[in-house]
Amino acid sequence: MEDKIVKTITVFVPGSMCNLRCHYCYVSQCLDESHLEKPSYDYPLETMIKAFSKKRLGGLAEITVISNGETLMDDTIIPFIHGLLKEGHVVTLVTNLTLNNKIDQLLDFPQEYLKRLIVKGSLHWLELKRTNKVDDYFNNMKKVLSKGASSYPFLVLSEDYMKYVDEILETCKEKIGTTPHCTPNFTFDEKTDLKRGGAIKTSPECTKEFVDYVDKNFDSRIFDACVKYIDIDPKKTFCYAGDWSFNVSLKDGAMKKCHGCKPEANFYENLDKLPKLSPIGTNCQIASCTLQYNFVAQGLLPDAPQVDTYGKMIAKPGIINDEVVNLLDFRYTDDHRQLSKKEQEKINKKVNEFYELSDHRYKYKIMYKIWKYLDSKLKRKGIIR
Ligand code: SF4
Ligand code: SF4
Repeated sequence: MEDKIVKTITVFVPGSMCNLRCHYCYVSQCLDESHLEKPSYDYPLETMIKAFSKKRLGGLAEITVISNGETLMDDTIIPFIHGLLKEGHVVTLVTNLTLNNKIDQLLDFPQEYLKRLIVKGSLHWLELKRTNKVDDYFNNMKKVLSKGASSYPFLVLSEDYMKYVDEILETCKEKIGTTPHCTPNFTFDEKTDLKRGGAIKTSPECTKEFVDYVDKNFDSRIFDACVKYIDIDPKKTFCYAGDWSFNVSLKDGAMKKCHGCKPEANFYENLDKLPKLSPIGTNCQIASCTLQYNFVAQGLLPDAPQVDTYGKMIAKPGIINDEVVNLLDFRYTDDHRQLSKKEQEKINKKVNEFYELSDHRYKYKIMYKIWKYLDSKLKRKGIIR
């Protein structure tokens, strides 16, 4: 089997526990930990890893492991990531990089496998400063790099972070010799552009002056790609998510075409065969693909403007290794057959019908529950029998 990426998979880790309390995060609003969802899994770890076998997927996958809270909080995640790396997959772990013991456990693994690990360190600058964890964050990143894995700081350039940009840049250069990757801070105005699912805005606004400033100071090709995709309406652009990429819930194996979509299969069932989903076409369930920079880099929307390949996009000297850059230097459009306009129309119609039908089923279920509730209440009061 060729050493080539054939699928892009986003794995959602259940639970929303976190050790930090960023002021802009809904997780941090729940200071009482009993309100936070603790992870549980419907299948054993062995099954979860087996489901991602190279044989079943037909080759290597680019897999992102992410959670609503801190991904490394739960003990299952590290052996799960080790299992994926052993299969040869390229794995991106999204973490706040502050759980020192967990990072040590993650790195306690043969270096030949760690070469394909990318640790995306969400840079929550104000919270790191408040909790005195700036050194932990960078020490952990340096540990990751010293083991031959790749890592990069990832910053959301929100309005309240702008006055700290200079100290963030200086610290990154001093600690790891380069600048962080970043994205604009996106907000969605759900009252306008309803057809698209909301108008996309950024704060601060992406004026030419702001974009030039970020380009000059950050040199982040992730930022460039995000800016390029602000005006691309995914409901007017055919997308191959579902076929070339998909999402999996680690808890129960619910398999979806992409974000916001309804589950279509159980990824953990019939481990000899991979469930086949059709492309989503122009039925994207969110308002924008702008933050899905790995998807757009891999060419999931062939008719939209092309950006750097994902390998070239994340490459930064000293923090992303050549093996990862080379493996991710591809677009699915290089060798995957694209559908004719007629085939696309057929798929668009079918997928649209599927979403509408399941919407109706969902509404029916809610109405049924309301009816059952009212029925029992009226019976209890003796109004009906
Ligand atoms: S680290 Fe992430 S999950 Fe934790 S509080 Fe901050 S934003 Fe929320
Ligand atoms: S346009 Fe982007 S977010 Fe929407 S389905 Fe395609 S890849 Fe997913």
